[in-house]
Amino acid sequence: MTPARHLSAAAPPAVEGRTGGSGGSARPGRLGRARRWWRAHGGDVFWSVLFPQRCVGCGRFETSLCTDCRRSLVEVCPDHCPRCGRSGVGWSIPAWCPECVGLELGFSSARGAFLYEGVARDLVTSLKYEGQRALAPLMAELAVPAFRQALAERPGALVTWMPAHRTTTRQRGYNQAEVLARALCALTGATLVDPPVRKVRRTRHQRGLDREGRRRNLRGAFDPLPAVSTERAKEVLLVDDVYTTGATASEVAEVVKGATGLAVHVFTFCRTEGEARSGLQ
Ligand SMILES: [Zn+2]
Ligand SMILES: [Zn+2]
Repeated sequence: MTPARHLSAAAPPAVEGRTGGSGGSARPGRLGRARRWWRAHGGDVFWSVLFPQRCVGCGRFETSLCTDCRRSLVEVCPDHCPRCGRSGVGWSIPAWCPECVGLELGFSSARGAFLYEGVARDLVTSLKYEGQRALAPLMAELAVPAFRQALAERPGALVTWMPAHRTTTRQRGYNQAEVLARALCALTGATLVDPPVRKVRRTRHQRGLDREGRRRNLRGAFDPLPAVSTERAKEVLLVDDVYTTGATASEVAEVVKGATGLAVHVFTFCRTEGEARSGLQ
């Protein structure tokens, strides 16, 4: 992978994975763990002989995502909330939606490409919990129209990814937010930088916590890295796989802002809405 430029003049953070996020991580058995490890560490060719490629959505053979499942993805409505990205119900003027009005959010805006449901959920789960790192370029290709639009609204923004704890990354083999960010930048030529913050404490899953509980759970989990150079940029685009309540993105954005002085915008592959929000980070 092409090394990212660093916002920080200090040593870049170790690549870390994050805890929490989308649906629950079912504990895989020994075979599942072996398959996940093998996929995460580049054994796709060998593994594909034993386990032929199948559609993430419906299980059809010889494709990672069949045409029908690809068509079933639901894009976030273009008239989404300009602040939290909630899929629109017809706001005609720039205004905060009922879901985020009154909330303190560390980021300036958040935007997701797809609704977190059906095949989008399957893709995130497979990338995040099943070691299917090879899905990242496909997911980036799917999300790239929305990503290009986000870049057009933030010209010159530096792109980075949601940091996470090194233990999680070691267990997972990679940080799914990082591989997505790298694939999106490879497709668009956007400038990728290492996160100017690192996750220093593992956090319990956000499931079942109210908003204040989530804030407490995340407090002190992220630390800034010193000696930041902003390289004349004014904004940072923080890439992640899923946006749910925005609690984690908000916490990280606060630390990034404090470390760099840059406004933070969030871009995610998908976004929860309605009932899908319950129980997720
Ligand atoms: Zn399919
Ligand atoms: Zn909103």
